[in-house]
Amino acid sequence: MALFEKAPAKINLSLDVLSKRNDGYHNVEMVMTTIDLADRIELYTLKENRIEISLESRYVPSDERNLAYKAAALFKSHYGIRSGVRINIYKSIPVSAGLGGGSADAAAVLRGLNRLWSLNIRTRELADLADALGSDVPFCVHGGTAVARGRGERIEKLPSPPPCWVVLAKPDIGVSTRTIFQRVRLDKLYHPDSSAIIEALYERDFAKLSTNLGNSLEAITSALHPEVSHIKGKMLQNGASAVLMSGSGPTVYGLVQQESKAQRIYNSMRGFCEEVYLVRLIG
Ligand code: ATP
Repeated sequence: MALFEKAPAKINLSLDVLSKRNDGYHNVEMVMTTIDLADRIELYTLKENRIEISLESRYVPSDERNLAYKAAALFKSHYGIRSGVRINIYKSIPVSAGLGGGSADAAAVLRGLNRLWSLNIRTRELADLADALGSDVPFCVHGGTAVARGRGERIEKLPSPPPCWVVLAKPDIGVSTRTIFQRVRLDKLYHPDSSAIIEALYERDFAKLSTNLGNSLEAITSALHPEVSHIKGKMLQNGASAVLMSGSGPTVYGLVQQESKAQRIYNSMRGFCEEVYLVRLIG
């Protein structure tokens, strides 16, 4: 038995760090939406009770450290499943980029195993289970557009953004989310207006959405990696309506409504940065 599942990346329309928790994590408020840049996950039932992972990547381990493996192990133990699974991962989402690639894979494995073994578990229950795997995984289980609060586990679904194009540019560096969070100084932090973003989504107001994009972590990552501000400047210069770093970076994205303009920005960014993508929002 085989099954395929799409694992789409996310971008942050906002990322606000609110406070430090007793468990060492931070309380956050993040408005996120999925984009049409996805890994492909294939799942095959094995008779033997084990988990096999196969993927070709220099940056991602293909053993029990892989988030997709952890998701399968959690799913099997939580629901008492004794069959095994082979997971083939075809990565398209850049790694350590702020696009939630590992979380997307883990979420796709949870959704896929639910189908593979016909358990009919509700999405909300899967998302609750996903909390143990990482703070972006509950959002990725739902997909679409949502605001995530708490550590990222409290999900409230939101309307999709108005249709637009997304140009993504990733500088040739990987950023560790943990390193960036360690540098957070709450008294000095910029706080985006997430409620204005949420209003803009309900009002389907692209201009309001564009003016209010914001990320508490952008200044921290930019201070370590000036490439982030350079890319932001270039995208704005080239005519993007709004530009923001996603997650803890370093990927920067620009939103554009007209396809021709998006194509123009994509072409000029390619002369400036090695990894550039032109995709649509699917949230
Ligand atoms: P986030 O914004 O959620 O931190 P990210 O996009 O910055 O995500 P990922 O691409 O998810 O970062 O990778 C972060 C780390 O997770 C890397 O060190 C990578 O080796 C590890 N990892 C484990 N499993 C996976 C997976 N299936 N895909 C990508 N990375 C994985």
